[in-house]
Amino acid sequence: MTAPGTPLLEIRDLHVSYGHVHAVHGISLRVDAGKVVTLIGPNGAGKTSTLAAVAGLLQPQRGQVLLEGRDVTGLPAHRAVEQGIVLVPEGRSILARMSIEENLVLAAEARKPRPPAAEQRRRIDAQYARFPVLGERRKLPAGSLSGGEQQMLAFARALLMSPRILLLDEPSMGLAPLLVRRVFDLVEEIHREGATVLLVEQNARLALQVSDTAYVLERGRIVLEGPSSELAADPRVQAAYLGGEVA
Ligand code: ATP
Repeated sequence: MTAPGTPLLEIRDLHVSYGHVHAVHGISLRVDAGKVVTLIGPNGAGKTSTLAAVAGLLQPQRGQVLLEGRDVTGLPAHRAVEQGIVLVPEGRSILARMSIEENLVLAAEARKPRPPAAEQRRRIDAQYARFPVLGERRKLPAGSLSGGEQQMLAFARALLMSPRILLLDEPSMGLAPLLVRRVFDLVEEIHREGATVLLVEQNARLALQVSDTAYVLERGRIVLEGPSSELAADPRVQAAYLGGEVA
């Protein structure tokens, strides 16, 4: 049993380096169950490196990652997925030559214990209901989808892995404005359904709108944190990330 008040995900004093490049300098943050937490900041601030360390794609140099209080620091990526830490990386994560259906079947099988076949089918059909365009094209190669549709497929795959926590790295990157809105609507939709999300975004305005709590990362350090509505009203955030306008 997890003690009351234990965050779903906690990062303690995380340091990440690439050789001599020290990208993350002692980040600590928490994500409570059912919350959307966003990490905003300029290019190169260390946002992707933080997500990669949580997802097991990078070994942190120092620090801890705790999932419901259990130390999962440095687990390889496939073990992290089995534990329910699911990353949608920047640039999506689809298997371009496989059909849309095959992409979804593989995702549904990724979680341990593997759900029974009938349950997997039901869950895949639920994603087709959420994203009708995927259902209509289920036999086509995933690579034939447009950028926005590929992002929908990446989301559907991630949701089929039954995430305890979903790590989203710049999901709106490179999408046309209408699709950007669709991506943020989707984050709100899964939030309402009870998902827990750690969202990295360059689009600070929308990220602050859809999240409960926010951390601002600059040069590998957290420089501001608090409820997203408060940060959206903070003059420092407005000047640096919201184009100086009053939100
Ligand atoms: P972006 O929005 O551009 O992805 P970010 O906030 O996600 O920025 P990171 O990608 O985590 O930042 O990068 C943090 C720092 O680590 C930067 O100085 C970057 O140049 C460096 N870095 C990232 N990946 C590597 C790598 N593979 N090898 C060397 N340095 C890297």
